[in-house]
Amino acid sequence: MNTPDHSSRGHAEFSPSSLKYVAGCAGYHGRDGTNAAAEMGTRIHEALEVHDPSALHNEQELQIYDQIVEMEEAFMGNFSGIQEEHNEIQVDVELDGTGTWGTCDRFLILESGSEAVMADYKTGISIIDPPEKNWQAKAYTVGAFQKFPDIEKIVFVFYVPQHNASLHHTFVRSDVDGIVSELSDIIKQAEKIRPKWNEGTPSLDDLTPNVNCRFCRYEDSCPALGGLVVEVAKKINPQLPDVDIENTEDPELVEQLWAIAKIVSNWADRFKKRAVALAKDGTEFPSLKLRSMGSSRRIMDNKSLLEVAAEFGVSAEDVLEHANIPLAKLAKAVGDTAEKGGKRKLSDNFVDACQDAGIIETSDPRYTLS
Ligand code: SF4
Repeated sequence: MNTPDHSSRGHAEFSPSSLKYVAGCAGYHGRDGTNAAAEMGTRIHEALEVHDPSALHNEQELQIYDQIVEMEEAFMGNFSGIQEEHNEIQVDVELDGTGTWGTCDRFLILESGSEAVMADYKTGISIIDPPEKNWQAKAYTVGAFQKFPDIEKIVFVFYVPQHNASLHHTFVRSDVDGIVSELSDIIKQAEKIRPKWNEGTPSLDDLTPNVNCRFCRYEDSCPALGGLVVEVAKKINPQLPDVDIENTEDPELVEQLWAIAKIVSNWADRFKKRAVALAKDGTEFPSLKLRSMGSSRRIMDNKSLLEVAAEFGVSAEDVLEHANIPLAKLAKAVGDTAEKGGKRKLSDNFVDACQDAGIIETSDPRYTLS
């Protein structure tokens, strides 16, 4: 069986999946590149397309795959038989004076011939807006109504295994005009604002900072986001000077913003700790959930470790192979063996000897401003 290759597929400039962000701010532009979660999602989608999980990489991927298959079977149990099945269907969305296109995972025309189920798989942990509030679902649905003129009703469903949810909504053909108008407004506004980044920065009035700025490629240089940060900083310290954040290359301005960034990031660290503490005490937030990030463990007694390792047939030499010994601490211990006045020198000699032996790896220096 041929394995499909979703990663080489193109995307519309304002693709359905990016409309949520573009609707939030017309200057939004997502970052290029990929990440581990996206690559996992691509593999699972490819496997679902051909109903063959053999190319998946690990148990977690297989589990998500199986869960989606089960969820889809259960959801489709609500409907009569399927007349026509389309996988990875490209939908062109014709709008007022603009358009977009995207690829939806499943489009199943039911036996009636006038109803269909359109489905998209969401393999990540992000919270997914339900279809009736979701621009991606709305765009796909409009594209499907336009592509299949006999369809009068489309049940759109997101299968979200990581939240164990099949989010669904029924759209009818008479919804199309209203959605086309909304989508057209969003995309046309973005078509006007996004290109302004090529000539400098869009005007502050055109940008609307929001929670999704963290995914925007202009996060570091966006004047609107900078303005928001300055506002927050001034709430923390009203004595701060007014800062003109239109030109984030100006050295004087960068220096002022540096101070503000420190104030805000310190506040943000404290705030995040407090929010986590509230969640641990039982506070429920609208969408945020308390997630364990794991805990680290370390050996507290090296001598006992060697004894335990020996019981398992692992020699002291093998243990050392896996050890990561802190150089500064060991150099101090060596220095402490010298008489008073000679400790520093002995410690330095020890580090030099390690250096000469070629056993020290030095990382790239890190920098800050002060
Ligand atoms: S960083 Fe700026 S351009 Fe990007 S989404 Fe936020 S406000 Fe809009």
